[in-house]
Amino acid sequence: MFPFSYTKVSDTSAAVAAGQRGGRYVAGGTTLVDLMRETVERPEALVDIAALPLRDITTTANGGLRIGALVRMADAAADRTVRTTYPVVSEALELSASAQLRNMATIGGNIMQRTRCTYFRDVTAACNKRQPGSGCAALEGFNRTHAILGGSDQCVATHPSDVAVAFAALEATVRLLGPNGERTVPFADFLLQPGATPDREHAIQRGELITAVEIPAQPRPLRSGYLKVRDRQSYEFALTSAAVALHLQGGVIRAAKVAAGGVGTVPWKLPAVERHLIGKRPSAALWTEAAERAADGASPLTHNRFKVELLKRTVARQLRVVGGTR
Ligand code: SF4
Repeated sequence: MFPFSYTKVSDTSAAVAAGQRGGRYVAGGTTLVDLMRETVERPEALVDIAALPLRDITTTANGGLRIGALVRMADAAADRTVRTTYPVVSEALELSASAQLRNMATIGGNIMQRTRCTYFRDVTAACNKRQPGSGCAALEGFNRTHAILGGSDQCVATHPSDVAVAFAALEATVRLLGPNGERTVPFADFLLQPGATPDREHAIQRGELITAVEIPAQPRPLRSGYLKVRDRQSYEFALTSAAVALHLQGGVIRAAKVAAGGVGTVPWKLPAVERHLIGKRPSAALWTEAAERAADGASPLTHNRFKVELLKRTVARQLRVVGGTR
């Protein structure tokens, strides 16, 4: 064990001040405490933010949805508005982790969770993300679950969150509160691809606190859903996943929001798939043609070449499920 201080805060300004002094925020504790037990993370100061008033789900003035950072996964998944208006979000949450974890883990913590790369969690292995400059054991090691999109010669770890894939598809934004006030970061810019600095995983500055995730107003009606493909049907991370939302009017697809999980170093938006869908009428052929574009730019590794075809099939199937034409 290693020593660390523990402070509980009850207002956001105290949290930001403590964060600015180098404290690490903890709420549900389902990721950070695990990593501390394994000594992958060794924070000197923990700031318990669980009591902050960030647990509301509200409709925004422009018709979007704001989910407070401390809303628990289970509560967000069960929320009536989330279930009826954004099933892709509730389904992604319900397919994540175990019921026990969903009762503890928060939305903010979920999008901040760290990779499940086994080498990252093995402190005896080379890992640029855990220890910059030490190498990447996964590149030459067992890389079946790793990324085929967005990797670098420094890191090929996938981002493990499911709901982050739904947020990426819906072009959500992340609200941050920091020493210089509030700012909003598009989800596409919030999580960072590894490049030459895989230890930098997100756009948060020192002291900044996630206060909410906001989903912008969507065209209505919107059909949506989430498909997760994994080695076993519960308590397992995605090999591939697809978040799909479609707006149809007059039998034509007017808007398409599609993203993939389990394949990218960050949740992977699929603009080429979206572009292929817009303006067309749903058909079995269309779903397959669009999904053919899902793996554009993929660089598979020794053990995960199967993900290229699996990704296309995952996207095609979920387009079919949401689009309603077989
Ligand atoms: Fe570390 Fe990334 Fe390599 Fe995994 S893939 S060992 S997290 S550097």
